[in-house]
Amino acid sequence: MIKVKDRKLLLLPGDGIGPEVMGEVKKIIEWFNKNKSLDFKIEEDLVGGASYDKHKNPITDEVFYKALESEAVILGAVGGPKYDNLEFSKRPERALLKLRKELKLFANLRPAICFKQLVDASSLKPEIISGLDIMIVRELTGGIYFGEPRGIEPIENNERKGINTHTYTTSEIQRVARVAFDLAKKRKNKVTSCEKSNVMEAGVLWREEVQALKDKEYSKIELSHMLADNCAMQLLRNPKQFDVIVTDNLFGDILSDEAAMLTGSLGLLPSASLGAKDKNGKIRSMYEPVHGSAPDIAGKNIANPIATILSLAMALKYSLDLDKEANQLEKAVQSVLDDGLRTKDIMSKNMKEVNTSDMGNAIIAKLK
Ligand code: NAD
Repeated sequence: MIKVKDRKLLLLPGDGIGPEVMGEVKKIIEWFNKNKSLDFKIEEDLVGGASYDKHKNPITDEVFYKALESEAVILGAVGGPKYDNLEFSKRPERALLKLRKELKLFANLRPAICFKQLVDASSLKPEIISGLDIMIVRELTGGIYFGEPRGIEPIENNERKGINTHTYTTSEIQRVARVAFDLAKKRKNKVTSCEKSNVMEAGVLWREEVQALKDKEYSKIELSHMLADNCAMQLLRNPKQFDVIVTDNLFGDILSDEAAMLTGSLGLLPSASLGAKDKNGKIRSMYEPVHGSAPDIAGKNIANPIATILSLAMALKYSLDLDKEANQLEKAVQSVLDDGLRTKDIMSKNMKEVNTSDMGNAIIAKLK
């Protein structure tokens, strides 16, 4: 078997249930190292509240440089009530924003897949979501969350004004659209681009630039444009009409959360954030579950580790060129669900309830 050398992975478990779910990921990486002759070098460090507790800083420069040097970062979750009153720059979430911004992770990929075994966990009718498999590509480093000017300023009559600015350039739009088109090529060749071109100039530009890229480079892709509010409605009415959806930072934030809830459980949803290719063809990347640190269940060994395990599968696929291993891991998860094993959050009648570590062990047993 081929030894895959120098695959450096940085694990940042973070806060709350982060370390518990990351523990299962570590076991799986160790299994791959031992049984598949892969040679991942794992480093692990503090981020978020855990880093603040030790360093008074949600991410140190040292950890940041480790992230720069690794092929992929896998993050658990950050945050918790203990840190809610810290000043903005010290908050656990600042670490995430810094990693996304400084690693230039401009494309956030959030699959929404409805596992056939868990159709009943969704609040929608089974026929609407059964077999659902969509991918939302959200622009992550531009738009209204980063645009200048921004702030809150006093105005006349003792009033204040809150200001944020929504801006996008041609290259910002086209690089994220390219990610969506390339993903669609490996799926059903269908992309829906969402904006509000009816009321926003930046939306008009978005529509025109996505179309221009498609016309120039992706003639085989079926591209349609949809207003973001209509997309929010269509996701509930008939989500299976979509394959890949590409949209900006703000609309993507909302639409990807909505799509996530179609599937019923936060504990199952992975995500990837990808940057540009460097001259060696490598992309910077970070993988994390969609859920947060779940302080209400932290430390009880009952969290669902599947979202983080599927985040590892995405890393294998998108950063490490290990599609076979990624498929093997995804199949192992499916197979454990087929066997009726469920963590508390997805438990239903006649199924067998297991804890976090049992779920990880069962997935490893399937890999074998
Ligand atoms: P959350 O996702 O942590 O939890 C929402 C609900 O889902 C809770 O009831 C929780 O118990 C449950 N849940 C979440 N993940 C689960 C899992 N893997 N298994 C079983 N149940 C699970 O969202 P929240 O409660 O709004 O936020 C809690 C903290 O997490 C806050 O400090 C928030 O800022 C932070 N947060 C962090 C991230 C991140 O790190 N990317 C994302 C969202 C929220």
